[in-house]
Formats: sequence, C-alpha cells, structure tokens
Amino acid sequence: MPDTPILVSACLAGIHCRYNGEVEPFEPVVDLVRRGRAVPFCPEVFGGLPTPRNPCEIRDGRVVEADGTDRTAEYRRGAEEGLRLAGLMGCREAVLKARSPSCGSGEVFDGTFTSTRAAGDGLFARLLKAHGIVVRTEEDLAG
Ligand code: SF4
Repeated sequence: MPDTPILVSACLAGIHCRYNGEVEPFEPVVDLVRRGRAVPFCPEVFGGLPTPRNPCEIRDGRVVEADGTDRTAEYRRGAEEGLRLAGLMGCREAVLKARSPSCGSGEVFDGTFTSTRAAGDGLFARLLKAHGIVVRTEEDLAG
C-alpha cells in the first residue's frame, strides 16, 4: 500500500451525498478514512449538484437525467476538482463506487434507466485513469 492517501467515493465512507440522499457505507473504506489512509470526495456535489438530486446515466457520451436534462457540465466540473484534490494529496489510487456515472469503473448503466449495465467508466473514474491513477471499485475490494 503506498504512503500517499487513497481517494475514495465519499458515499462509501458513509457521507450522505448519494443522489437519493441515503447512506450506503462500505466498511473497509470507512476504516481507511478512520485511519487517515483515505480522503473522501464526491464529484457530483463538488460539481454543484444538490443532494438529493435526479439520477443520471451516460448516453451517447453525455450525462443526462431520465428526461434528457444534460448534466455533463456539472459532472465534468466535479471530476476536475477531484483530480485537483488527488494531485494536491499525491493520490496514486482510488476506490470508487461501482457503476456510478461519475465513479463507476469498467461498468456503468447504459443510459436507458432500466438498470441495464454496459461497459464503460464514469466521468470521474475516466479522468483519474487518464492521469495515471489506479481506480478500483468497492466490489473489487470485496473480492
Ligand atoms: Fe458517491 Fe461518486 Fe455518486 Fe458522489 S458521485 S454519491 S461519491 S458514487
């Protein structure tokens, strides 16, 4: 494990930032934060979106709500702020929430709002990877 802190999805640490306002902590991530090994961050909140907020999915490269409202700009802004934080803290790895349109890594929902999965990354995960940060999901940690 590197000495630098791990960037983690804030919702995995038990912060109430999920789109539906509910909390879904993942104990291994909570433990990393408790021990000062991880830094929680929520790109959607830092992008200027409220909690709760309408769910979004990625469709044709854009981040949209079910009615088509385009939230790509907010998602990009939050991802860029997260990258800035990762750079400040020297993070080399991240543990992010599976299948989120921001945090998902390797798999997201397909833009039809039918819980159908598709290959791909959320905007935040994609940006971190493009800058050499290793991204895993909590499901990878659970093994
Ligand atoms: Fe969690 Fe990421 Fe969604 Fe924020 S954007 S609630 S950190 S999955």
